[in-house]
This record gives sequence, structure tokens and C-alpha cells, in this order.
Amino acid sequence: MGGMGLSARDAVEQIRRAVPSERVLVDPEVMAGLSQDQAVWAPVGLPAAVVRVASTAEVQAVVQACIRYGVPIVPRGAGTGLSGGANAVDGCVVVSTERMNTIVEVDALERLAVVQPGVVNDDLRAAVADYGLWYPPDPASSPWSTIGGNVATNAGGVCCAKYGVTRDYVIGLELVNPLGEVVRVGRRTAKGVAGYDLVGLMVGSEGTLGVVTEITVKLRPLPPNPITVAAYFDTLSDAGAAIEAVAAAGLTPSALELVDRHCLAAVDAWKNMGLSTDAQVVLLGRVDEPGEAGAAAAEEMAGCFRRAGATWAERSTDEDEAEALFAARRLAFPALERLGPVLTEDVCVPKGRVAEMLGRIEEIALSNEVTIANIAHAGDGNLHPLLITPLGDEAARARAQNAFEQILAAALELGGTVTGEHGIGLLKRPGLDAELSMEVLQMHRAIKRALDPANLFNPGKIFDA
Ligand SMILES: Cc1cc2nc3c(=O)[nH]c(=O)nc-3n(C[C@H](O)[C@H](O)[C@H](O)COP(=O)(O)OP(=O)(O)OC[C@H]3O[C@@H](n4cnc5c(N)ncnc54)[C@H](O)[C@@H]3O)c2cc1C
Repeated sequence: MGGMGLSARDAVEQIRRAVPSERVLVDPEVMAGLSQDQAVWAPVGLPAAVVRVASTAEVQAVVQACIRYGVPIVPRGAGTGLSGGANAVDGCVVVSTERMNTIVEVDALERLAVVQPGVVNDDLRAAVADYGLWYPPDPASSPWSTIGGNVATNAGGVCCAKYGVTRDYVIGLELVNPLGEVVRVGRRTAKGVAGYDLVGLMVGSEGTLGVVTEITVKLRPLPPNPITVAAYFDTLSDAGAAIEAVAAAGLTPSALELVDRHCLAAVDAWKNMGLSTDAQVVLLGRVDEPGEAGAAAAEEMAGCFRRAGATWAERSTDEDEAEALFAARRLAFPALERLGPVLTEDVCVPKGRVAEMLGRIEEIALSNEVTIANIAHAGDGNLHPLLITPLGDEAARARAQNAFEQILAAALELGGTVTGEHGIGLLKRPGLDAELSMEVLQMHRAIKRALDPANLFNPGKIFDA
């Protein structure tokens, strides 16, 4: 039972009185699989226990035991995070919500759903589709990531260019706060402004302000079938110019994704999808205006692509083929991971500076001799340069770390942010210091101290309290 000090031992004993023993895991080997997310470069501690909670009452019992004995708490969803946010800290209790996976309610009249935090993103989308409704936020991890994790990271995704991110859909939350109380914040009504926006504060707080135990989300009617426009480019900067041209034309694509040759080749080598890897860069655009407006928007987007220098740009006539390209986009990250440890970037820049940022990324790759693949939620200016290093090559890793920091600095210089959607976690802490003023960091600390006075919730994540 490594990682377990005296007080942690007492806390685990108290937890065992509230949660059946088979769901209170203390075997280091079993815990290892539940102690870190997908940010392979972030440090990981050794937990005292991992508790697979099944109800709000159990979460409360765990939190109260941890408060009593001063034991840190690390909330965890599916562990698909890319910033180290769900990584265990030494001697903590990891609260794993995967068992809390019930869709509690779908209210078609109010167009809302109430779910437990462990519900998988795709499962919510499938369940509400039966009512003709849609939950838009669709991170590329949607087959695995949980709504609780999406809330805690304010996850974005492919359709966010038009439909917004997780925060735009969450209207109410139940949580166990750092005082061990079960509280409800927010509303169920279409509007409501009673008090501070504590829902907005909790969304994106990366497990540092409580464990979310229930989520109320807004839904939309299902969108019309989209039209896909695909385009090939010889250079990243041409693709960047195309992204700017789409925004300048006043188009609002329901998706605009970028995938480069490295990613397509890695996906093809893995899944044998017969993808063309002639193109250096592929842009995948979608529009979903109904009827003729959609056809006109698709044509206009193809025109933007061509004028920006696409070697080929066409509206897709085969939805299966279009879906395969989007599937390849979603598989890019796991496909690259097969080549070696991947350090994932997540910068977001103004749309008009995407081309310049892509150019900077290329220069940084060259000067540091690092392979950098690119995928992007391009329509949002949200770029994911993926830094790939051979396993065990420490020199390459140091060069990649240097490149990582230079990319953050470049994004800030161009008026962007160090994280568009993955969060700060552990990997971006220096980035946050660079982005926020001292005064604003102090405001963060003041909020953290007021709500979590003992600094037990995910300590060391985002910033030092
Ligand atoms: C292949 C791949 C593609 C991805 N694509 C995207 C993308 O397009 N857009 C995007 O935004 N992200 C993306 N991600 C990152 C990741 O999937 C998201 O950050 C996701 O929201 C994490 O959900 P999770 O359930 O895995 O949470 P975890 O990784 O388990 O946890 C994430 C954070 O949330 C906290 N947390 C989890 N549950 C709770 C809870 N109930 N209460 C309080 N805090 C909690 C954790 O402490 C941690 O800080 C991708 C990841 C992968 C591996």
C-alpha cells in the first residue's frame, strides 16, 4: 500500500464503511491504470486509494472522510484528458465516476437532459437523438470521455465552431463541494440570473473546486444533414489562408478541421482506410444550413479553398467517404501515439492569425529538429500541434519540450491562448503564468481559498493555491 500515510489509512478505513470494499481499490497495480490521463509526459503520484463511486451519497462520504483526515482528492472521469488534470497526487484518493453512468432524465419539452457525471459523451448524444434532440459538444474523444470530465475541462470539439463548447450547454450542476456539502447550482429554466454564475465557474475548473455529481444540459433539435467539402493543400500556410478566407466570407461552418499528412499516414498505416496521403494538408469543412442555402454555402466554401491555393477542393457526393475522412481526423491522435510518446499542444489563436501560427509551428519544428504533426479545430483557430518523439530518446524529448514552450509563447504573441480546450492541468502551468496577469492569478487563488480552504481538491493542478 504505497503512498498511504497514517491519515490516508484512516480515511480509507472510514471510506470502507460507506462504500463496498470491492470498489475501494488499494492494489498499486490496479490503481496504476486509474491514476493518470493521456498526457504521458505529466508527472503522476501514487494514490492511497481509488474509489469507484456509485452515488452522490458515496461521493459525499469519500469527501467527508478525506476532509477529516486532510487527504487530497482527485476526481476522475474516463482519463482521456491531455493535460495531466486527472493524474493522482501522492497519497490522494482518486474518485472515479465511471459507475455513475445513468441518464437520469430527458425532458423533450424543456429540451434538457439530466445526467450523472460518468455518462459517456456519445451515449448522451445517442440517447437524446431518440427524442429528435442533440447534445452538440463533441470532443474527438466522444466515444470514451465522460460528461463530468467534459464539464470539468469545458471540452470543445468538432462542431463547436458553430454550436459552442460545453459551457454553452451546462445550465445546472449538483456537486459535493470542498466542505463536504451536496449543493445544487444553476437552474433548469431557459433563463435565470439568481446570484453569481457558479455553474460557469465550475465548468472548466478541472476538479479543483468539487466533485460534480449531476449535470443538467440544454439540448437542441437535431441539425439538418451536413454537406462536406474536402480540400487538399500543398502547404500549411495555404490551408491557413483558406481558414481565414472562410471567416472573411462570413461563412459559419458546422465543422472546419485540419489534418496533415503525418496524421493521415499514421491513421492509414493503422486502420488501412485507403486515405490519400498525396496531400500535405487536408481541410474538412461542413455546412448544415438546410436546402439551397446549404448548397450555396458549400459552393462558397469550396471557392474559398480554391482561391487560397487548394490543389483540389470539392463538395463530397458520398457521405460515407466524408464520414471516413472525419473518422480519420478523430483517430489521428491515437494513431500517432503508436509511433512514440506524443506531447499534445492546444493553442488557440485569432482566426486571422492561423496561417501565421502554422508557419511559426513549422519553423519551431525545424529549429528544434522535432517531428510535429498537425490536427486542428481550424474553424476556431484551435491548433493541436502534436510533438512526436522516439520512445526513450531523452535528447529528442528535451528538444520537444523546448518546442512546446516556444509554441505557447508564439500563440500568446499572436494574441492567442495557451489552451483552447484541454485545460491547464499540470502541463500548462507555466503557460498560465505567462498568459494571466499577477492580479488575475491572485483572483484565482482567492476563489480557490474561499471554496477549498484546506486545498484538498486536485492540489497543484492549474496553479499553486
Ligand atoms: C483521442 C482524444 C481526442 C480528444 N479530443 C478532444 C477534443 O476534440 N476536444 C476537447 O476538448 N478535448 C479533447 N480531448 C481531451 C479529453 O478527452 C477531454 O479533456 C475530456 O473532457 C476529458 O474527459 P474525461 O472523462 O476523460 O476526464 P478525465 O481525463 O478523467 O478528467 C479531466 C479533468 O476533469 C476532472 N474531472 C473529471 N470528472 C470530474 C467530476 N465528476 N467532477 C469534477 N472534476 C472532474 C479531472 O480531475 C481532470 O482534471 C481528447 C482526448 C483524446 C485522448
